[in-house]
Amino acid sequence: MGSRLVDRFCAMVRIDSESGDEARFIEVTKGQLEDELAATCVLDGHGNLIAKVPAKGADGAVPIFLAAHADTVKPGVGIEPVVEDGVIRSSGETILGADDKAGLAAIVEAVLTAKRRPPVEIVVTRGEEVGLVGARNLDLSLLSAKRGIIADSEALNEVIIGGPTHASVDVEILGKAAHAAEPGQGISAIRIAAHAITRFEEGKLDDETVANVGTIRGGMIRNGVPGRVTIEAECRSFDHGKCLEQAERMKAAFEAAAADVGATANVRVRIEYEASRTPEDSAIVRLTKKAIAAAGLEPATQVILGGTDALILSGRGLETAVIGVGGEAAHSTDERIAVADLEKVTEILRNLLEIAAAE
Ligand SMILES: [Zn+2]
Repeated sequence: MGSRLVDRFCAMVRIDSESGDEARFIEVTKGQLEDELAATCVLDGHGNLIAKVPAKGADGAVPIFLAAHADTVKPGVGIEPVVEDGVIRSSGETILGADDKAGLAAIVEAVLTAKRRPPVEIVVTRGEEVGLVGARNLDLSLLSAKRGIIADSEALNEVIIGGPTHASVDVEILGKAAHAAEPGQGISAIRIAAHAITRFEEGKLDDETVANVGTIRGGMIRNGVPGRVTIEAECRSFDHGKCLEQAERMKAAFEAAAADVGATANVRVRIEYEASRTPEDSAIVRLTKKAIAAAGLEPATQVILGGTDALILSGRGLETAVIGVGGEAAHSTDERIAVADLEKVTEILRNLLEIAAAE
């Protein structure tokens, strides 16, 4: 099954771009956008790409940005895509990279084929998979669009309009190391951690709040009382206040469990991003729903507990929504995408540009 869209996608995933290592992919993309779309391209100070494509048949239309992230998770080196029975997957022991190169391939193809379009700014961010760092550092002074779409989710009919506040909780428990034969000399940091973790709720706390203890590391030897433990935990909620309260409860539990036995817990709570929601009646959400409906799907708005670049950009004042690109099993070596889905997201984006040009 040969098509320019599939070829474009396959060429993109063949260029390695694990998080932190996206420079060559961005450089190649920049050259392509300059050649194919006559885009004016700049890299910002962080290495994110902003490609400005002039309007077509819609001078004076409100500019829009279309964004995708350049980086992939691991293992993402040496990806060899295979197209078989209408599905693209990777041949080897790697991910495919449809997250998010399907989004970018569809964006480029949609801009190229739209009969009319407003001024478009294609934004390709770095480091989405490692804490949304590209979007955090994106130089907004280089963008004129105040509203836009990120193509980086799964279901093709869904418009993601909001996300949670996310707090990281980093804990270091300092007990006292001793020989196991002389326990009276020591204070077990592992035991403090165990007590603390049972003192707060974990998992799904209510309809909009979750908490998790993700890692615990400590102890050196079997026959020693462990003197130090570190823990990485987190919580998220669509309600900013609830997230802060849960983070405080977790912090207090570690501090109290340590204090009970004369030890110390150093706890740092960090807000990774804040809950935001793009209004249902905003221009970008209305436009996106129309574009999905025009492609024959039933649009549905959603909020998700995961982090996306949209949360960062919304928090920085841009009206942003996320659409799906149809891939499955992202972040695994089973990752795949149907050619029909790649074509469908391209159609949705093309509709969006043509509808925006007509408004
Ligand atoms: Zn992604």
